Amino acid sequence: MAITETQTLTLDEEYRQKFASSGALYQRAREVIAGGITHDARAFAPFPVYVDRAEGARKWDADGNELLDYWMGHGALILGHSHPDISEAVAEQVRRGTHYGACHEIEVEWAELVHKLIPSAEKVRFTMSGTEATMLAMRDARAFTGKNKVLRFQGHFHGWHDYGMIGYQPPFETPTSAGIPDAVGASMLTARPNDIEHVRELLEADDDVGTVILEPAGGSNGTVPTNPEFLRQLRALTAERGMVLIFDEVITGFRYAPGGAQEYYGVTPDMTTLAKIVAGGLPGGALVGKAEVMEIQQFSGDAKRDRYQRVLQQGTFNANPLCAAAGVACLKHVATGKPHEYANRLGERLRSDLNDLLRRLGIPGLIYGETSVFTIMLGAGIEEAVRTSDVGVLMGARGAAALLRKGMLLEGIDLMRSGGFTSIAHTEADIDRTVSGFERVVGRMQREGAV
Ligand code: PMP
Repeated sequence: MAITETQTLTLDEEYRQKFASSGALYQRAREVIAGGITHDARAFAPFPVYVDRAEGARKWDADGNELLDYWMGHGALILGHSHPDISEAVAEQVRRGTHYGACHEIEVEWAELVHKLIPSAEKVRFTMSGTEATMLAMRDARAFTGKNKVLRFQGHFHGWHDYGMIGYQPPFETPTSAGIPDAVGASMLTARPNDIEHVRELLEADDDVGTVILEPAGGSNGTVPTNPEFLRQLRALTAERGMVLIFDEVITGFRYAPGGAQEYYGVTPDMTTLAKIVAGGLPGGALVGKAEVMEIQQFSGDAKRDRYQRVLQQGTFNANPLCAAAGVACLKHVATGKPHEYANRLGERLRSDLNDLLRRLGIPGLIYGETSVFTIMLGAGIEEAVRTSDVGVLMGARGAAALLRKGMLLEGIDLMRSGGFTSIAHTEADIDRTVSGFERVVGRMQREGAV
């Protein structure tokens, strides 16, 4: 297509042309898949992009378009797509068996690595997802404390089970999904982020709260960043009251540092939930924590205690040898700290170059985040909203990022909604390309009156 012709198309029109095969696949999907998609975050108008294969920092779609990937497996791929060591470990394990329905040595090695890396990991239990890890964490904590309620924070995501849907998105009084029993809502308290006085107030008013859970670096992958001083205050307050503090490190675990956000901020919780990087890009998760809390899952031989006071956990695919092999291969790299040094440097450069660009163009907005995570928010008042932890504004701006993502896809760049992750597979040249692509996209958005 001639350049002049492309420039006359709107972002939406050009998207429909460039990704036509994805459009056709979406039509097919809608016939058989409820809503046409398999993860709500992949909903995208007029249709999502269908990917055919991936390698390193790149994906290729159904039309053969090459995409520089910042979605990176929802944050699971700090080593990039199809890292040779992980591919090798998985291929070898496929030949040896994918599911023994039994204990095996690789799960022990996997747990040893997690135990060595994560400061709070005295004991480890594997699950198959982050959602299961947070569900189990809350169950263990409730059983251990003997208290029914859990305090969480506005805008923090803890997976899609019933408890996670309370207080997640505004308006916070209403569950984010239909189908959540009132009884579940009544068992959760929702506090404002970074507001220790609000936490104290809620706890003073209800003595049935034994557990606090949060994303340590801030709600929804740092969309509403946590003030490190607040983390320290929360640690002190929960310890003082004998409560269980859970860090949901499904994203930050093994990413902010080899020991996760708890190592990065120097604050150790009682329990930690992990997923994504822990399984090296295959499905998997883990709950780790203090031995005295996690002992609640252990058989003691005392029939009465084991039937009425022990926490049960099952799961057909927990720590299956295939995912365990990928996890071990990945965590061996994580343990060196080298992936972090590299990916963090690129993350820092990307945030700083994009901010410089916005300032030069006079477009309101802010690019923020830490380590290898970045969030792009366009619009006025973002800096103020970050400073004041204004969840409503920040969650709203995140939801309005679809046009930016569409424009970036046309530049051959796949953002994760309004941000993404750098990895060891990205290069300085990829950052240059991202910055120049972003400049063209915001220019087009300006012409379309969107910024
Ligand atoms: N907690 C956090 C902080 C997450 O970011 C996610 C997933 N994005 C989850 C829990 C749920 O993990 P999963 O998708 O593996 O169920």
